[in-house]
Amino acid sequence: MSSDANTAVLRNCIRLPLAEDELLEVTAKAKDYAIMHGAAMRSKTAFSPDSLNFAPFVLVPSSFPRKEFEKAVALQPIINRLMHNVAHDEEFITTTLAETIKVDEFTANLFNIYRKVLAHGFTQAYSIGLLRSDYMAHVSEGCAIKQVEINTVASSFAGIATQLVPQQKFVLSELGHADKLHNMPDNNALAGLCDGMVKAWDIYAKPQAVILFIIEDVSYNICDQRFHEFYIRETYPHIKVLRRTLTEVHREGKLGQSKELLLGSQEVAVIYFRAGYEPGHYHSQADWDARYLMETSLAIKCPSIHYHLAGTKKVQQALAQPAVLERFINDPEEIKAVGKIFTGLYSLDDNEAGNASYEMALRTPERFVLKPQREGGGNNVYGVDIPDALKRMSRVERSAWILMDLIHPPLTKGYMVRPGGDMPPQIVDMVSELGIFGVVIGDAEHIVHNYQAGHMLRTKLSTANEGGVAAGLGALDSPYLIDSDDEDEQK
Ligand code: ADP
Ligand code: MG
Repeated sequence: MSSDANTAVLRNCIRLPLAEDELLEVTAKAKDYAIMHGAAMRSKTAFSPDSLNFAPFVLVPSSFPRKEFEKAVALQPIINRLMHNVAHDEEFITTTLAETIKVDEFTANLFNIYRKVLAHGFTQAYSIGLLRSDYMAHVSEGCAIKQVEINTVASSFAGIATQLVPQQKFVLSELGHADKLHNMPDNNALAGLCDGMVKAWDIYAKPQAVILFIIEDVSYNICDQRFHEFYIRETYPHIKVLRRTLTEVHREGKLGQSKELLLGSQEVAVIYFRAGYEPGHYHSQADWDARYLMETSLAIKCPSIHYHLAGTKKVQQALAQPAVLERFINDPEEIKAVGKIFTGLYSLDDNEAGNASYEMALRTPERFVLKPQREGGGNNVYGVDIPDALKRMSRVERSAWILMDLIHPPLTKGYMVRPGGDMPPQIVDMVSELGIFGVVIGDAEHIVHNYQAGHMLRTKLSTANEGGVAAGLGALDSPYLIDSDDEDEQK
């Protein structure tokens, strides 16, 4: 990679650009490959439940530093344990979110459920976390990975990401580079997450009980969800998956004598939330009541309410403060390793430290991103837009947000292919975000399963602040691992 701090460019896996006729042919094949293997989504602009578009993808895999990929993989069980311990630390969650819930209604609603459940005692001691820790390589630290965020709810794309590795291997082979396939790590994200859900189902130990997916009214990312459902039925033919919206759970759901969640006559063993992480998913109090009903039930939740709260940006910011990790991790080496993936994260609470971060953001906004307690993309404020956004807030309102150092990932060059996009696609400058999946299952005292479970790569135009795949600037990708010393890669 080149050494200039702001323009570092990672070596491509193959020499680009491709000749136009070759590019046209392989892109057309890759689109069909994607649709035929389910690397697809429902169209937002021309929605039909009867058809799919391929999901935006990067034609040839983007490079990622091997050492950093391996570091992220190795860290995942430690991060799983960290998040499990955080989720079970009532005092930490309560203090950390105290200011935020005064001004952020959504987090307050989640917290109220937590408070009520705490008051009555947890019906189900076990939780399952299907986590995804997201990273970017940071150029000014030698491309060391820095955590963008940790997701504890609806960690998506395990299904499609698993499909994308064979797709990009197919493309590389079509282009005459089969010798390079070994640099694309296997990805068993789908199996890893689904096997996790089934391990939770086993703990519940009722052969007739089902796994319930909580879904949005319309699921654009349907293939990713269906991959999970179909994998479970195909691998474990005796287990049924149901899909319901929060509103449907409110209508159909009730608790049985032992607080088991019943939908009609079907008992639910495991609840997997693919919705419920943003305010728009709750249409009325009835939907909040449904969330509470599920939380008080015997079903094992993915995530349980405390896991959900542990995944908030505010908690992430608190974890990055000096000495906080020691509360959750015993091994000093592990504390050091996790500490290194954090970039600067600053509270904007109405106190001395928070006001100092506020002043710092006004002075040098280009260094930062401002984040509210939201998931799902499109909520952050970047760089020069930060001062105006902050000035519009009252001092207390600021505590609903956190400030974070911007990470500067190295560039890659490649072709982004989108439904309705240019043919042939243009070569563009891109940056990538690596997600590592993890599964953790346990109760307050013990962790019974803890493993890393595959990965995903999302790549966006280097000029875009965010790379939401459905939103239009991002695309699905997989890492092509490069070593810093294999200078002959492009031959
Ligand atoms: P969300 O919960 O909405 O996914 P994220 O924290 O992941 O929130 O931010 C959304 C996107 O914004 C990320 O995928 C990334 O592209 C960009 N982003 C977030 N934090 C940073 C950062 N510190 N540096 C650079 N880009 C960031
Ligand atoms: Mg994110």
